[in-house]
Amino acid sequence: MERRLICINCPRGCELIVETDDTSGAFISVEGSACIRGSSFALAEINRPERMMTSVVSIKGAKNCMLPVISRRPLPKAKIVEAVRAMRAITVDAPVHEGDIIARDIVGTGVDVIAARSL
Ligand code: SF4
Repeated sequence: MERRLICINCPRGCELIVETDDTSGAFISVEGSACIRGSSFALAEINRPERMMTSVVSIKGAKNCMLPVISRRPLPKAKIVEAVRAMRAITVDAPVHEGDIIARDIVGTGVDVIAARSL
């Protein structure tokens, strides 16, 4: 089976043509990448797609009412919506420093969510 992907590793956005096994869906080959990172991206997209999560949580006692947060590393793509929903239930108290852990092991992924700025 042929799948078309856009590599998101840099602004060039190479269009990748990925060949997978018709039965198992296993990765076979990729064409269209201008560098090795495109091949790695295609392999990861087929086997275990991941994305960084950015969101906001409520904060009390700061000049702003929302604190931007980011996952410390990429989450499984299938867990992103669930993770963003989980952020809605979180309220923290100021002061918060950039890099402080806001949520540990978000939705069972083993990934922590941290403050993206100080407030
Ligand atoms: S394959 Fe390489 S050059 Fe093309 S978008 Fe991905 S990182 Fe950029």
